[in-house]
Amino acid sequence: MKLDILAIAAHPDDAELSCSGTIASHVAKGYKVGILDLTQGEMGTRGTPAIRLEESDAAATILGLSARENLAFEDVFFSEEKRYQVEIAKILRKYRPEIVLANAVTDRHPDHGKGGSLATKACFLSGLRRLETELDGVPQEAWRPQAVYHYIQNNYIEPDLVVDISDYWEIKKESILAFKSQFFDATSQEPESFISRPGFLDFIEARAREMGHKISVRYGEGYTVERVPGVDNLFHLL
Ligand SMILES: [Zn+2]
Repeated sequence: MKLDILAIAAHPDDAELSCSGTIASHVAKGYKVGILDLTQGEMGTRGTPAIRLEESDAAATILGLSARENLAFEDVFFSEEKRYQVEIAKILRKYRPEIVLANAVTDRHPDHGKGGSLATKACFLSGLRRLETELDGVPQEAWRPQAVYHYIQNNYIEPDLVVDISDYWEIKKESILAFKSQFFDATSQEPESFISRPGFLDFIEARAREMGHKISVRYGEGYTVERVPGVDNLFHLL
C-alpha cells in the first residue's frame, strides 16, 4: 500500500504531540498517512512497551491512519549507524511516501534530534538503487521522498512553515490523550515525569496557539525544512 505522508517518530507519542493536527488535516483531505515509531519508548518513566503499543493503536484509530509500524529499536541507545538507516529505508520503500515528517532537528530529549537526523539519512539512502533490500523475500525498488519536514516538539525552534490545524485541534488533543500512561492522571500510582505534570497539555495548546498566531489562525504546527519549499500558485500559501 502506498502512503502519501509518513511521520517518523523516535517514540510512540512524538508524532501525536508534534504533528497529529497536520496528519488529521491531510487524512480529512483524502491523503493516506502512516506513522513509523522507531522505539517502543521502553525507557520512559511511565507505562510499559505493551501499554504504549495499545495506546499507539488507539491513537492511530483516532487519527485515521492507514498504517502504523514500530521498528522496536533500543530506546535511548539506537544510533544513526547503517543497520538503523537500512531498517527505515525498507519501510520507506514499502510505503513510498511523497512527504516524510520527522523528529525535530534538536530537542530536550537527545533521541529526537538523533531520530530526525536518522530519518533524513534513511530518506536519502532509500533512494540509492544500489542499496539492495528485500521485504518478505521480494527485492524492493529504490524510493526517495520529495520532502522531509522536521516537526517541532518540546524546545522552541523558529519554524520555516506552519500548517493550519485549527479544525483539527480536538482530534490532536484526543490522540495525545490516548497515551493515558504518559499524561496527567490523578489516580496514577506511577512516578511523575516531565510530561505527566498537570500543566503539560496547557503547554501543548500554548505552542499550537503560538504557531497558529504566526499565520493568523487559531492553532498551528510548525516545521523546519531541508530545502526551500516551492509552489506554482501563490494562493496556495496562507
Ligand atoms: Zn519522544
